[in-house]
Amino acid sequence: MIVQKFGGTSVKSVARIRNVAGLVKRAAEQAPVVVVVSAMGDTTDYLVKLAGQAAVAPHGRELDALLATGEQISTALLAMTLTDLGARAVSLTGSQLGITTESIHTAARIVDIRTERINRYLEEGFIVVAAGFQGMNEKGDITTLGRGGSDTTAVALAAALGASVCDIYTDVSGVYTADPNLVPTAKLLKEISYEEMLEMARVGAQVLHPRAVELARKHHLRVRVRNTFDPEHGGTTLTGADEMELSRTVSGVTVDRDQATLTILKVPDTPGVAGEVFGSLASRRVGVDMIIQAFHRDRSVNDISFTIRRSDLPSAREVLEEAACRLGAEGVLADEDAAKVSIIGAALMDQPETAARMFAVLGQAGINIKMISTSEIRISCIVSERDSNRAVRIIHDLFHLDDEQA
Ligand code: ASP
Ligand code: MG
Repeated sequence: MIVQKFGGTSVKSVARIRNVAGLVKRAAEQAPVVVVVSAMGDTTDYLVKLAGQAAVAPHGRELDALLATGEQISTALLAMTLTDLGARAVSLTGSQLGITTESIHTAARIVDIRTERINRYLEEGFIVVAAGFQGMNEKGDITTLGRGGSDTTAVALAAALGASVCDIYTDVSGVYTADPNLVPTAKLLKEISYEEMLEMARVGAQVLHPRAVELARKHHLRVRVRNTFDPEHGGTTLTGADEMELSRTVSGVTVDRDQATLTILKVPDTPGVAGEVFGSLASRRVGVDMIIQAFHRDRSVNDISFTIRRSDLPSAREVLEEAACRLGAEGVLADEDAAKVSIIGAALMDQPETAARMFAVLGQAGINIKMISTSEIRISCIVSERDSNRAVRIIHDLFHLDDEQA
């Protein structure tokens, strides 16, 4: 059996839903199909906006009850359309799908999927149209998985059902060496390893949600990114790094402009300080990346800098200022002019000169690097937002990513 997933732009209108129905019906002639859909177009944004008008701080339980309706609309419409085209189809919400999640609202993780009901429908020859992005907690309340969570639903269902492939249909043909809107010569990658995709998704590539990639890697699931509007195109396939035919030093370059940096200044250099600082941020669910701790000459105090999403800045700053007070630090600095430019490549670690070349070329272009972090397969630099697009192009050129790839 196969799982297909269609994102918001693919089901933006009834006409587009009909187009999707055609693709699904054709696939269902070959194999049993579970099709996961997102809400139509910008519906979820609209629902978030409505909630904001109704209440200053909408309660999580009610917010989830509201947000989950977006996917109910698109699943019902797709099931109707499929039936109209002569297929047997049934729409199911998160709870009807048997998806149980943690109880935390608006960012719940999937705990378990009871597949009996889905399997029964599949055996009876139905196409199961599954609502993405939602589940039910142990109390039986509706939960959602966090924005972009439909990818995660699709991969989790594919894993639970033992699907042979999970096709994620979107509005681009797959994963590129860079955003083609930014770098017109960017090339499509036919394959990419889970690890590289995970890093790319985390640092700005929008095609796949990082949690979905993580889940795919865990289950070693065959995931393909494909284009709804060019369905014959093979797209990009995620594979284990060991199965890849070639190992490129650099696979792609990404930019994430939704960044800000925070620094806590001259915090005492004693055990437990970092735990306290990042513990208080974690308790507000602020995701932190690129942590740099640097000591002062007398070694009794440290500065700790890190990056966060710009939208998290107000709450993160408040938390950090409280922590600074408690810990007797000198103060807090915030910088909103930050963009994270990253290169990703499975073999980066074996090529130490790669980082040096990247920094040198940015320097030659007069682009100042504010922060650096590296992992085995990623090198990221924080630069000023106005330099970020230029940085991506320069780096893409440097590593000849526009050359034909295998
Ligand atoms: N509709 C949800 C969102 O816009 C989930 C998704 O699209 O994956 O975040
Ligand atoms: Mg969406």
